[in-house]
Amino acid sequence: MLSEESVIDLWEQVREKLKIEAGDTVFNNWLGLLSLSSFSDGKIVLAIHSKFHKDWIEPRYGNRIRTLWQGFNKDIVSVTLIVDERLSGKNTRKAEDLSTSVLSLSSPLDPRYTFDKFIVGPSNNFVAAAAERISDAADVSFNPLVIYGGVGLGKTHLMHAIAWKIREKNFNRKVVYLSAEKFMYQFVRALRQQETMAFKEQFRSADVLMIDDVQFIAGKNSTQEEFFHTFNALVDQNKQIIVSSDRSPADLEGIEERLRSRLGWGIVGEIHQTTYELRLGILQAKSDDLKNSSIPKNVIEFLAHKITSNIRELEGALKRLVAHSQLVGRPVSLESAQDVLHDLLRANNRRVTIEEIQKKVADYFNIRLSDMSSPRRARAVARPRQIAMYLSKQLTSKSLPEIGRNFGGRDHTTVMHAVSRIDELSVEDSLLSDDIELLKRTLDS
Ligand code: ADP
Ligand code: MG
Repeated sequence: MLSEESVIDLWEQVREKLKIEAGDTVFNNWLGLLSLSSFSDGKIVLAIHSKFHKDWIEPRYGNRIRTLWQGFNKDIVSVTLIVDERLSGKNTRKAEDLSTSVLSLSSPLDPRYTFDKFIVGPSNNFVAAAAERISDAADVSFNPLVIYGGVGLGKTHLMHAIAWKIREKNFNRKVVYLSAEKFMYQFVRALRQQETMAFKEQFRSADVLMIDDVQFIAGKNSTQEEFFHTFNALVDQNKQIIVSSDRSPADLEGIEERLRSRLGWGIVGEIHQTTYELRLGILQAKSDDLKNSSIPKNVIEFLAHKITSNIRELEGALKRLVAHSQLVGRPVSLESAQDVLHDLLRANNRRVTIEEIQKKVADYFNIRLSDMSSPRRARAVARPRQIAMYLSKQLTSKSLPEIGRNFGGRDHTTVMHAVSRIDELSVEDSLLSDDIELLKRTLDS
């Protein structure tokens, strides 16, 4: 599959070729004004600001442009030219700037990720309401909106839904949606090509900036710095910012204090773990959308009951069932579900919590559960406590600060220390490594 980065790079190469072949005049007046609008499934869409330009380019260079793209990459199935009037008014700018205009910074939006496909329940209603509010409001009432929650719980879906809705209401508002990873990629690329001014200008001309999975820039200092400045510039101009993260700003490690505090300025909303009713609602909606298969009610209930990890897995399970039933030509049943989803069901059984770990470890070493959070530092309790911290880090998806809080409000550096200490010790001390193996096994089963 073609990644977004490689498409941007290919587009650079196509442009360079065109410049050489057509010459500077034609390039600067015509071809250089094309910009990359979107791509998906190997379909490239190039945009230009006027019909006049399109009508000139299409018969003369249309085929050549297609051949160049396909020459660079066989996976490209089509290249289409469209007129996008939003680009007009910029045609006085240098052709260079336009190739990466603000609209092409935005990643493509998934057409399935809209509000009407987003099922609301107690775990996500607060965030969903904030998201709808932002999409409906003409002005900025809170800034930023931070949506956080574990993987597969609907953060990206909601962000796309906001973008679709804003675009639908006002086509002229420039909505830029991209992952933090892509933000970083663009930034590093701009640095390399000494185009940071253009980079800044492009991002700062967005009306709504959405950065998905912002935790990615944790620890990436220069990218973080740049994001911080972009953030401030946009907030100053009263532009809307929406950010998602896999944990709360307070729990983001490797984020500068000033950025963390900015992130808390607006509304911070969590998407919690799903409830049974929400899972049921989602499965019902998804199975109503299925054209050629029907899923019996008892199977839907079974899945909602068993697959609790996240919505992506839930969807994946449903897809697998349908695919399997089509393949073998038999309707979906409870038996087939149990059979086909064997591995998934097992993985969902194994969800260990910090509390369970503390209990098991305390039992194992014969200390009191309360010692897990007590300040006592005697070796007899401190070592088991460290082991429990270590296992919490390994077996749950909790962050270091969260783990620390569960151990009597200890600092995240204490947890970090415990993790590396146990790591070291278990290499030297085979008794300890056996203890850990055993504990893991009992926790897993
Ligand atoms: P995240 O970005 O939080 O990891 P996604 O937004 O990618 O999660 O969601 C994973 C999948 O679950 C997507 O296919 C999405 O459409 C679906 N999904 C998540 N939440 C909901 C919901 N409330 N209603 C319907 N589908 C949902
Ligand atoms: Mg996501």
